[in-house]
Amino acid sequence: MRIHCIIFIAFFWISGIKTVSGSYIPEIIDIGVFSGESIKKFNFTVTHGRYLICNSNHEKLLEITPFTTITLEVNQSNFKVIRNDSVLFTESNITLQGSAFYNSFLLNPYNRNLDQRAYDGDLKVSLRRDVFQLINSVPFESYVAGTVQWESGFNHHDIFYQVQAIIIRTYALRNINRHAHEGFHLCDRVHCQAYYGKVTENYIISAVDRSRGEVIVDNTGRLLNTVYHANCGGQTVNSEDLWTEALPYLRSKKDTYCSDMPGSRWQAQIAERDLRRFLQQRYRYNPSDKEWHGIRGFRQSARRNFLDPGGEVQLRHIREHFGLRSTYFSVKSNGDSLLLTGKGYGHGVGLCQEGAMQRARHGYSRKQILNFYYNHSQIEIWQTELLW
Ligand SMILES: [Zn+2]
Ligand SMILES: [Zn+2]
Repeated sequence: MRIHCIIFIAFFWISGIKTVSGSYIPEIIDIGVFSGESIKKFNFTVTHGRYLICNSNHEKLLEITPFTTITLEVNQSNFKVIRNDSVLFTESNITLQGSAFYNSFLLNPYNRNLDQRAYDGDLKVSLRRDVFQLINSVPFESYVAGTVQWESGFNHHDIFYQVQAIIIRTYALRNINRHAHEGFHLCDRVHCQAYYGKVTENYIISAVDRSRGEVIVDNTGRLLNTVYHANCGGQTVNSEDLWTEALPYLRSKKDTYCSDMPGSRWQAQIAERDLRRFLQQRYRYNPSDKEWHGIRGFRQSARRNFLDPGGEVQLRHIREHFGLRSTYFSVKSNGDSLLLTGKGYGHGVGLCQEGAMQRARHGYSRKQILNFYYNHSQIEIWQTELLW
């Protein structure tokens, strides 16, 4: 049990966090939570354990126990810490450090569009451009479990959750220094991976635990870029079709397992004049009558990357602009509109979640599922490096 505010000693720090390299898993990971939101006031409520409030000099200011709520409110270049309507102190930087065996808390911003979230571990509070910067220092495997829940939802097969844990762990480690310049490892949005609080389901915790420390690597031992998406629509996408780099393990494959799943089909209607405007503005392209005829009857039986035969208009740009579920669609003319009939949900690169769910139900092993979506991937077990 820790009774003092602990000063972490590490080899190399940037902006207050330890940057990570080498084949090990850090014991604790720092996640920027409510990242990108402008929070000026929030409540912190202890739900389990005890929390020490420590200032930037690691001095203990106060200890709080379950069901205690404190309010933190920005006050120019500092913030006030308030309990029962009285200001306890004013600081610019504090850590709420769990001091019992298991510690958890709730964060409840006053912003009307944000809901309360629950977390394990510690919370670092500081200011960045006059709003709160909130960093959840959480055991790495707790982060993986929370992210598995937010990225894949409830009531799936145990093998699917284990696969999801392996690729989420791998993705987190590969990208772990992405936000080092901001003072944390990863953000909590889809930019990194969705982590909107701690795991709540025991069956997800068990699945994550059964894959503890497991990551996937290529034959040189390098962590793979384990991107994933909801549903590929029957065919995954080559990495270079979406980004620039052709990765040997991210190859387009036919996937027969995701076709009857919720994300497999979609329809959308867009006005022809809106597409004309987009082509003109984005590409300076004014299709001839013959070219429009081609666009009105555009078909994809296998995935294509371009709308036009000349290979100028990228389908991914059309997807982004019109907010479509995927680039895997065909077109039919419908008066002044174009009716788009599409397959799949997401960018289509890497693992297809709904295909992987079905493969798990049909008895595929973790290795078989991972090898299908990430060619020649190998599972390795990485050890956790203790911070002290
Ligand atoms: Zn991020
Ligand atoms: Zn699929």
